[in-house]
Amino acid sequence: MPYGPYITIDLNKIEHNARTITALCRKYGIEVCGVTKVTCGMPQVAKAMLRGGVACIGESRMKNIHRLKANGVSTEFTLLRIPPLSAAEDIVTSVNMSLNSELSVIQALSEAASRRGLVHNTMIMVDLGDLREGVWPDDLLPMVREVVELPGIRIAGLGTNLSCYGGVIPSGKNMTQLVEYARRIETAFGIKLRYISGGNSSSLNLIASGKMPRAVNHIRIGEGILLGRETVNRASWPGTFQDAFLLQAEIIELKEKPSVPIGETGEDAFGGKPEFVDKGERDRAILNIGREDVVVEGMVPVDPEISILGASSDHLIVDVTEAENVRLGSELAFFMNYGALLAAMTSEYVEKRPVRDREFVSENRHIVLTEISPQSEPDSDRLLNIDDLTKGLNQLGQSIARRRQIRDDPEIVSETVAEIINDDLIPLVYANDPKTCLDVYLGLALSLPMFGTIILSAHGSCITAFTELPPGPGGVEPRLESERVALIGLREVSHEESRLIRRSRISAYTLEEIDALGMREVIYRALRAAGMGTDGIHVTLDMDVLDTTVAPGVHRPIRGGLSYREGHLAMEMIAKSGLMRSLAVVDYFPERDVNRSTAGAATEYVLSLFGKKILKI
Ligand SMILES: *Cc1c(COP(=O)(O)O)cnc(C)c1O
Repeated sequence: MPYGPYITIDLNKIEHNARTITALCRKYGIEVCGVTKVTCGMPQVAKAMLRGGVACIGESRMKNIHRLKANGVSTEFTLLRIPPLSAAEDIVTSVNMSLNSELSVIQALSEAASRRGLVHNTMIMVDLGDLREGVWPDDLLPMVREVVELPGIRIAGLGTNLSCYGGVIPSGKNMTQLVEYARRIETAFGIKLRYISGGNSSSLNLIASGKMPRAVNHIRIGEGILLGRETVNRASWPGTFQDAFLLQAEIIELKEKPSVPIGETGEDAFGGKPEFVDKGERDRAILNIGREDVVVEGMVPVDPEISILGASSDHLIVDVTEAENVRLGSELAFFMNYGALLAAMTSEYVEKRPVRDREFVSENRHIVLTEISPQSEPDSDRLLNIDDLTKGLNQLGQSIARRRQIRDDPEIVSETVAEIINDDLIPLVYANDPKTCLDVYLGLALSLPMFGTIILSAHGSCITAFTELPPGPGGVEPRLESERVALIGLREVSHEESRLIRRSRISAYTLEEIDALGMREVIYRALRAAGMGTDGIHVTLDMDVLDTTVAPGVHRPIRGGLSYREGHLAMEMIAKSGLMRSLAVVDYFPERDVNRSTAGAATEYVLSLFGKKILKI
């Protein structure tokens, strides 16, 4: 157990705060980009923000964006700090949009993007007086005139940043100016700007008062979500928590001492000349935290009876005379302001402890193993090795709540799946017949308000089912929108299926695309498409997606499928995203299997989907 200072990070509170703020903004047609930079791009924090409804994640540093991506945060990323010239290559391949104010940087982005056949989104920043980043208004149109000509660049929006350097407050006046500049760009160059981005947490008051111009449709919020404050007056934001982050340190000395030093005094450890008020003898505690860990001036003790007296690099001295229950070895908790939080999150000496209520953790939901078979079959004819599966799941801390065997009847299959989801359990359906996946989707549509799906299959047969799913809560949109469907590993598609795919917004990745993009990128894109704005995703694993050397025992074996490693990479990335709400594994033809190798592979892949690590990703 580490015994240094630590921060508890309440992910439920962050999610709640994000929900409060995105709901407010949505009312005014404003999309929220959640900003994680003060947490150094902590993946759990980004995921909590996304659960709370932010549309994308904004970060200042590429390093943080790479960390987030590597840890299963699947969303769109915006690079907030205007980028250095040298980062163009990395930016066009790794982020969806960057904020820009320098023509030569945009030119470099244009070159890097064109070379790869990509289009990079730029949000041009205009300086409305805060004097941090941004093009000066007089130079805006001349600059945009050059940018519109650049290949590989799309001007996605116009934005501004206030209250950061100059402390300029967002107002109806400067925001109207922003909109005005956006309109001028649109008229002068005949383009449509997707975003007009009206600043950061300092704009919350303006939004809530209804005085933000209607044309502003985007905002970037960090502090408002993380610390529950607007940033003009640092007032608590209604309906949010201010204590999602708490800093804890331990008392390492507790003694009664005078309040004024004895002897002639000079400078303290940091060159200051402290002044002391004589309050007589006081109970003073020293904590194992100091300026190496945090900005001490930004800390406020949670217990109002405690006050901070001072600090050096490694020691914090507090007055605990009025406090109760303070002992050597006990921990004291502190709120932090933005600066203190930034320092503490950056300090390697401060441990970070994200916490989340168990009820929300999908990874800990129990599984209901559901076998669909016409009649009872011998074990050697089943797609999964149940003993290995049970053992493996137990080792992963997962457990099978129930085992069910049901008939291959559409109504029974869909009702069973719906029932399992309604009990807040995870259905793990397996069947030899690949067509079974259709009925599973109906069950999901009956129980999940909104869901997405990733289908790993050589064939496109599942997609015909989607056209018949019942509509969602609003009665119009289906519960499974086509843009939330990702097909991976296609090798054989009928005319009708390929027409359906082309006419819909389904993302389909053939083996060629997997070769070109790499499995990691494909799964990343698929998770982003399937997971956004849903209650989770359903995964269909048709064993024929794998190469016949890995899974020979399928109904229609075709060579050239996913390799053993590609398969596991896909499963592990899906597991890491924490999005999987339901799973179906289908397609087994026992007579064609070789020494149960297909069944062994299916069992391993299922374990991978529940978090077993085979590749170290
Ligand atoms: C940090 C940052 C934000 C978020 O600011 P908060 O005050 O934390 O909401 C928004 N935009 C840019 C450009 C930033 O750098």
